[in-house]
Amino acid sequence: MAGSPKYELAWIGDKVETDFKDIQISAKDLVACQGEVGDFILTCNDRNNPAKIEAANIIINLPYQEEPVIEGADSLLNDNYYLKDDEPAIIVQDYPDLSPAFISKVALKRSLEIKNNYPDQEVYYLYQAMRFLEDNDRLYEEARKAGIVFLKFDIGQLTVSEDLKLSYEREDIELELAGTILAAPELKPADQTERLARIFNLVDGYQDYLQLDNIYLQPTQSGRRGVYLLRGSRGPTALTYYKEELDFTLGEIAKNLTGVNEIDDYERTIDDQKCIVCYTCYRVCPHGAIQRDDELNSMKIMELACQGCNLCISRCPTSAIEIDHDYFTEADSEDKTNLIICENSAEIAAEKYNSMTGEEPLSGFKEIVVPCVSTVERKNIIQLLASNSADIMVLGCVAEACKHLTGHDRCQQVIDRIKEDLEKLDLNKDRVHYQRLSPRMATDLGGFLADWKEAVIQ
Ligand code: SF4
Ligand code: SF4
Repeated sequence: MAGSPKYELAWIGDKVETDFKDIQISAKDLVACQGEVGDFILTCNDRNNPAKIEAANIIINLPYQEEPVIEGADSLLNDNYYLKDDEPAIIVQDYPDLSPAFISKVALKRSLEIKNNYPDQEVYYLYQAMRFLEDNDRLYEEARKAGIVFLKFDIGQLTVSEDLKLSYEREDIELELAGTILAAPELKPADQTERLARIFNLVDGYQDYLQLDNIYLQPTQSGRRGVYLLRGSRGPTALTYYKEELDFTLGEIAKNLTGVNEIDDYERTIDDQKCIVCYTCYRVCPHGAIQRDDELNSMKIMELACQGCNLCISRCPTSAIEIDHDYFTEADSEDKTNLIICENSAEIAAEKYNSMTGEEPLSGFKEIVVPCVSTVERKNIIQLLASNSADIMVLGCVAEACKHLTGHDRCQQVIDRIKEDLEKLDLNKDRVHYQRLSPRMATDLGGFLADWKEAVIQ
């Protein structure tokens, strides 16, 4: 866009010093994000920044919101705590639930800090599980030597009354404790997180963080190429390896600046004469790769952002989205039993099974490999069923291993509808099967296909 300042990196939220040409934008001032990796256009409503900013990459780096789990207690994360004279300091690391792992480190440091500053004060440290990250074991040893009293508890063995008295009961130990309580807070996403999910068209994850617990998205990638998530945008575990994850992210951004290629070789286009601008494709695209083209009054696909799942094609009500490739053209051959397999799960699992056992689990089947089982449309299955007498097995992903986040569910819906159709026609609905796998389930795949082969190949 002519006249917009260009940056290699835009920070939404907190900024870290880097060698990139970068800019910081407050989350509440960001209004819109258009474009794709290498060429994002951010619209801002901020007196300190121009209205439009071009950025090649984006990091969303928001702090957490803290919510107290013990009303009236101080936060363990707050440096400005106040200790009452002659009363013990009580660190509560995991109440009532386990805290994120990085809290162990904060709590150990805090307990040592208190013991150093107030050597005569008793310090109790209550915890359910100590996580030994980095130098936590050294801190733990130091804290024990300094006289800090560690009390391990399980759920139900520690209760806190409204007037902040702690009752601890474990085996033959019974204690009533009172003093200054420093408790680990519960961490929640920042206020702006939900708004940013809408602006960036990102899928919400666990407890409304901007990240799904998905093996393909670790550690800081969002579903959208060139948009990265750190700290309070991503979930409490993000703080545990924050430095490593920041380094990884900056390394990825440096790579993006030397050039990003399209993910697959096929071209997807939207016919502006057929598109009714219903926004279905925009909503279902798990990678934020579809935007409105105002000039054509139609939608458009951004090629670098597109990750080739074909979800948009399968959902478009007017068949306006076309791809210059047909995954199913060679399917109606002499081969009987058809397998439709996802290249990210079943195909990888089959390769692993082969290298583990020397056996080829797919032999005897006619397989069609798709980038995501969301590629499968009703008409494909109907044609396959009509063209030969074989059963059809679709092998998709378990939810957390779906690279395209929601492709596995889309396929389930397609298969369910086909089964309903077959039943209505008084045909055998079990001619179509849907099974979910992850790339790690090589042994399960081998056993399961062997059973199925025996059942369907006479
Ligand atoms: S789903 Fe199809 S008709 Fe609807 S906006 Fe997308 S391309 Fe256009
Ligand atoms: S193929 Fe998948 S990633 Fe590409 S535009 Fe369609 S839905 Fe988005």
